[in-house]
Parts: sequence; structure tokens; C-alpha cells
Amino acid sequence: MLLELKNVRKAYGDKVAVDNLSLDVPKGVIYGIIGPNGAGKTTTIRMIMNITVPDSGEVLLDGQRVTSDFRNRVGYLPEERGLYKKMTLEEVIVYMGELKGRTRRELIAKIDPWLQRMNLAEYRLKKVEELSKGMQQKLQFVTTIIHGPDLIILDEIFSGLDPLNIELIKDIILDLKREGKTILFSTHVMEQAEKLCDHVCMINRGQKVIDGRLNEVKAGFGKNSVQIDIEGDGGFIAELEGVGGVTEFNNYIELNLEEKADTNCILKAIADRVLVRRFDIVEPSLYNIFIDTARIDPAELNNKGGTTDV
Ligand code: ATP
Repeated sequence: MLLELKNVRKAYGDKVAVDNLSLDVPKGVIYGIIGPNGAGKTTTIRMIMNITVPDSGEVLLDGQRVTSDFRNRVGYLPEERGLYKKMTLEEVIVYMGELKGRTRRELIAKIDPWLQRMNLAEYRLKKVEELSKGMQQKLQFVTTIIHGPDLIILDEIFSGLDPLNIELIKDIILDLKREGKTILFSTHVMEQAEKLCDHVCMINRGQKVIDGRLNEVKAGFGKNSVQIDIEGDGGFIAELEGVGGVTEFNNYIELNLEEKADTNCILKAIADRVLVRRFDIVEPSLYNIFIDTARIDPAELNNKGGTTDV
């Protein structure tokens, strides 16, 4: 395991921000942390970075307690953004990269390709204060990864970016994964978490309520439905085994499936009697999983036998 959190806890006065949280982040994955506002995501990330010291529990990198060289191996984009406004883009990138142990020469060679990729090349010698908020965020992302860290931690990377820039950052995150890097990010943007994560962890009120590979979390949620478009009388469909309910819409019929429904059998049974124009299995979206899970008090989930650990 690249990164492990073992029973970490942090309270501010009598407010428990993170409660006995354990996470395992394997090497080479994209790991998403989701959760409502105030759930404890930033506190968790700050404990990983050793900016906030846990009251109890420990954070391990490669099985060892983190040491001083830790920060050179990690690229961290904090939730609160901030770059030196009077410096030029080039100066900021070199300054941040040198802090992480890279030479000026190495960094200078990397600046143009990165700024071009971010559509910021023409600003290389301009001051940071001349950039818009979203542009500054892209620049800060460059300073986070310019030293080639193998663990990249991004707190709310997508907030404040337009859809084109969200796509740009998403593609870079995928490239970083292909290079073997490990990326841990927090987000409220479920669509991006859904597109990117190999593994997803949801925190609610300081506790872990979902933890698993994205496809397994979805399968475990067990609320698939099927949308069909047929020609003929579909009155018999509601009676088929595995079909829990039928809702008719203008152009299609939606079947709510029971937990262990066999979609192949259902398709065959329908196709035997009527013409099927469309048969789409619709997975539960991460958005819906988030909403349904966030409504449940974590204590209630734990009483029922713990998290959706898969
Ligand atoms: P958001 O999505 O809104 O950024 P989050 O999941 O990152 O939220 P945290 O910032 O980790 O949540 O906050 C978790 C809880 O800890 C909240 O109840 C917050 O009020 C509390 N908290 C965080 N930092 C402090 C602090 N420095 N002092 C007191 N309470 C704090």
C-alpha cells in the first residue's frame, strides 16, 4: 500500500472533524474522496500532509511514518489557493520547483511545454496578478506537479474551473496515472469523480461511509434500472421475475430491478414476445449514491454493520 491512514482522529474543541478514519491508497490509482460540505475531507488531506497533526492514529507512506523527504515525493494542491502575485509565472514555477529539490535548469526546460498545455504560454513573463482566478488555479496545478512527484494530492482541484479546463485537468490526471503516479483528490463534482476514480471513499460527518473500487461501490448499491423501448403490448413485463416496478414515460418504459435480477433473462423474456428497440441497463450514478448516502446518519450505517466496504 502506498499510503495508509490508520484510525486517524481530529477534533477541534468538542467538534470531531475526522473520527477514527482508516484509508488504504494503493500505488498507481486515482483515489477520490467525496463527501458533503464540512464532512472532514480537507482535515483528512491536511493530516496526510502533516499540516494538521492527528489527535490519534497514524499516516504511513510505504509502510513508514512520514519523514522530512516526504514533501519532495508529494505534490499538494491545497484548498486555499495562493501564489506570489508579484512574481512572473516563470519565477513562481522555478521558485516552487527549487523548494522541492529541482534545479533551475531542469525547471526552465519544463516551463514552456506545461504552460502551452495549460494555454498560458503567452503569460510566461507576466505577473501572476494578471491572471484570472481559474488561470491562477491552472498555474498552481503546474507548480504542484512540476517536480515530478509520485503521489499527487489535490484538494478541490475542479472548483472554479470552466468545463474546458475541467476536461484539460482531467486528461492530465489520466496521463499522470498512465505514468504510474498515484493521485488522491477531493471533489464535490460527482461527474468528474465518476469519470476519473478507480477507487472512491465517501466521508460524512467525519466517518467513512463508502470505501471501494468505483465499479464495486456501484454494484453494491444495487439500484440498477433498465430503460426499454418496445413495439407491442408490454403489460406482461411487470410480472417478470426480477422486475420490481414499471414506470411508463413518453418514449420509453423504465423497469426498476430487484436486487438479484438477471437482466439477460429479462431481455430474453421480453424479446420473445415483443419487438425490442432499445434495452439500456442504467447504473446508479455516483451523484445519486452520494445523495442517498449523505442523507443517512453514519451512526445508523455503522449500526447496520459498517460502511459499504467492498
Ligand atoms: P468542504 O467540502 O466544505 O470544504 P470538508 O469536507 O473539507 O468541507 P473540513 O474542512 O475538513 O470539511 O471540516 C470538517 C469539520 O471540521 C467542519 O465541521 C469544520 O467546521 C471543522 N473544522 C475544520 N477546520 C477547523 C478549524 N481550524 N477549527 C475549528 N473547526 C474546524
